Amino acid sequence: MAAQGRSKPMAHLGDLPFPQSLPDFQRLFPDDAACAAWLEKSRWPDGFVCRQCGEVAEPIRLSTRPGTLRCRKCRHETGALVGTVMQRSHAPLSVWFWGAYLVTSQTPGISAVQFQRQLGLSRYDTAFGILRKLRAGMVRPDRDRIGGHPNEWVEVGETFVGGRMRGAGRGARHESLVSCAVEVRPREPGTVQDDGRDGRYAGRVRLAVVPDRSSESLCGFVEDAVEPGSLVVTGDWSGYASLRGRGYDHRVVAGCGDHEIVDEFPPIVHLVFSNLVAWLNDVHHGVGAKHLQARLNEFAFRFNRRLSPFNAFHSLLGTAPG
Ligand SMILES: [Zn+2]
Repeated sequence: MAAQGRSKPMAHLGDLPFPQSLPDFQRLFPDDAACAAWLEKSRWPDGFVCRQCGEVAEPIRLSTRPGTLRCRKCRHETGALVGTVMQRSHAPLSVWFWGAYLVTSQTPGISAVQFQRQLGLSRYDTAFGILRKLRAGMVRPDRDRIGGHPNEWVEVGETFVGGRMRGAGRGARHESLVSCAVEVRPREPGTVQDDGRDGRYAGRVRLAVVPDRSSESLCGFVEDAVEPGSLVVTGDWSGYASLRGRGYDHRVVAGCGDHEIVDEFPPIVHLVFSNLVAWLNDVHHGVGAKHLQARLNEFAFRFNRRLSPFNAFHSLLGTAPG
């Protein structure tokens, strides 16, 4: 998956419109042909080029197969869906677009039954299959490391996440230890992030289940998740003591136990954990250890793209370049 850092805006996609509301969505994507045209524009922003003969000309569009383009010169056919999640699907493009829009922006916990009803699909299996494929795009972990920006830092912390399941009795808790790294950025005056609060906001996160609070586990997580050389801020725990030796600029938060300071300027990593726990309980009704890493990836996907639903939409459909 392409890096979504704000320093790397997606190539060529700035001109494509993205719906801000349901009426917007209906206006932009009224039918399969509109979806196909949008896909075509995202794939060939500078106009169609035939892969076979190199011809640069308006292709022939097959109305019976939206998304299929035929070269005027050599008749070679190219699918705008190749490499996307919609490839080899018999469901209409508009259904996929609706699904990606609902999953990324509207209804995080949408069920296959709700999806089937909302889109008027005749078969439950179709709704289930589409949602499953879109969600698979959310649980693939982002591979690039966060941090690495001057004037910013990365907070790292760990917490136990309970395995509370709906209907499970007392004693059924199987807590897992979760590490979190989150970029902390200063707000730029006058931007969307500048809401007049305390001058900083969260950038991207990485979350992982770790076996224990040993130096090997905690610092190993940091090495996987954070660019070397970044300023890493942690609580005062010996498990992080070797970070400096591993190539990080390591600071320990003074006054972590001071409730007045923590109440006024709570570490952003704590806010991420409380959001995570609330989301796991509200949307997934708790989650067992077996599926926890997938849920952490989904949470990170949503969190990291919350300021750019457009990128989330592209990621799920598989139409993002790169
Ligand atoms: Zn051609």
